[in-house]
Amino acid sequence: MTARVALVTGGTGGIGTAICKRLADMGHKVATNYRNEEKAKAWQAQLKSEGYDIALAKGDVTSADEAEAMVREVERQLGPVDILVNNAGITRDGTFHKMTAQQWQDVINTNLNSVFNVTRPVIEGMRDRKWGRVIQISSINGLKGQYGQANYAAAKAGMHGFTISLARENAKLGITVNTISPGYIATDMVMAVPEEVRAKIVADIPTGRLGTPDEIAYGVAFLADDRAAWITGSNLDINGGHHMGW
Ligand code: NDP
Repeated sequence: MTARVALVTGGTGGIGTAICKRLADMGHKVATNYRNEEKAKAWQAQLKSEGYDIALAKGDVTSADEAEAMVREVERQLGPVDILVNNAGITRDGTFHKMTAQQWQDVINTNLNSVFNVTRPVIEGMRDRKWGRVIQISSINGLKGQYGQANYAAAKAGMHGFTISLARENAKLGITVNTISPGYIATDMVMAVPEEVRAKIVADIPTGRLGTPDEIAYGVAFLADDRAAWITGSNLDINGGHHMGW
């Protein structure tokens, strides 16, 4: 297998950490972004103690300038980015009739505009080199909607439109573009949901449990593989059967 350079946004988070490790296990050189240097260095040291060497580049994905600088820094440290995983994301939940413009904009900027900001400085190099993997981490709620998440569901659904358009534009150039839609995963984002609400969510999942970050990372590894070259413009549902849509 060819060793590549991978950039995972939000790599220090629950799912991101598992993706960084999986891609490193595949033999790739992996980088992620950070906003808080101290927190990121502690994360990097923890992974180092587990045998993982993950590069760090400063960058807030809501800023096009910072995202571009982050990509250039990754290129400087590791080389051109071959695998991009747009994973950074936040929630700012609230029913729409009470949602503030700030809640809406924060989520759209972090979860959707970030995809433009980070993919734009990466895509031309992939086109020149005629190989690339662009993977969006969307959400089950971008497919089926969720009470209190009009902002989040809109951003996550937007990732699908982006994916299928970028896939078409680059299909002949060895670049695949796909989306993964995780169901509920046991990370800080989901553990922050009140326990009684979480219990109702779990009761609705056919497998009867939350997913693990590595179960999402496994999907990323699959789509990033050379052998996944004919999978493009797809959405991979990884949700324990929670949403079975066609
Ligand atoms: P976490 O909250 O654990 O991690 C989020 C990561 O995104 C952190 O590394 C965070 O960095 C980073 N991040 C947030 N905002 C920015 C920003 N403006 N610029 C740069 N980095 C930023 O989330 P999860 O691991 O649970 O989620 C990862 C992705 O998976 C998200 O897109 C989420 O929507 C999606 N998802 C998660 C599900 C779940 O059940 N957990 C279900 C479905 C989808 P920092 O430390 O600086 O805040």
